Amino acid sequence: MPDNQIAGHIEQVRHQIEQSCAQYQRNPDSVTLLAVSKTKPAEAIREAWQAGQRDFGENYLQESLEKQQVLSDLDDIQWHFIGPIQSNKTKAIAEHFQWVHSVDRLKIAQRLNDQRPEGLPPLNICLQINISAEESKSGITLDELPELADIINQLPRLKLRGLMAIPAPANSFEAQRQPFAALNQALQQLQAKYPHMDTLSIGMSADMDAAIAEGSTIVRIGTAIFGARDYSQRQ
Ligand SMILES: *Cc1c(COP(=O)(O)O)cnc(C)c1O
Repeated sequence: MPDNQIAGHIEQVRHQIEQSCAQYQRNPDSVTLLAVSKTKPAEAIREAWQAGQRDFGENYLQESLEKQQVLSDLDDIQWHFIGPIQSNKTKAIAEHFQWVHSVDRLKIAQRLNDQRPEGLPPLNICLQINISAEESKSGITLDELPELADIINQLPRLKLRGLMAIPAPANSFEAQRQPFAALNQALQQLQAKYPHMDTLSIGMSADMDAAIAEGSTIVRIGTAIFGARDYSQRQ
């Protein structure tokens, strides 16, 4: 992108978060902007970092590890893994990320727990919920949630922070808001037992306002910051 365009987009998204928080009587500091940098070059991430952005979301392990290496001079950067997880990738994820949003089965949680290096703090985890019950999508159902949350809350090297979801696209604000409301309610039920659970990872470029209306604490924004993605270079 041309000079400073990414910085300008971040400023616009931050402004939109503030407006949305004002509208729904929320503190703007309660919403973290996660810049989703999958398929984008390390230089785009550096530009965002220079504009004050610290949290970055990545979906493809190998691509992300290469960029992390190039960007190892950037202080204070937080890497979030948000893509589907194969079990042979858990070790590198446990070693190189601060957050994992896409945990959707016990086996993966167990491996991340066992492989989280001793010298690092517990890995922050969100459970991915298949809120629109799409067959093609990863995630557990809300019915499966309480039991899995109970087990994962016992794993010492993980810190279960909350829930993540990617609802099916919807074309009205009210239709976007509905699945987010169900997630918000599910988190509140868990919080009665586990008050440390504080995270709703919901809202992307197209449905951010509806997610903030329903209590999002992390919005995952790619396109609105970095522009459209080009997948043709990926194998
Ligand atoms: C790609 C991706 C995003 C960002 O989506 P945009 O529509 O580009 O904002 C958010 N969350 C997940 C899990 C993604 O894979």
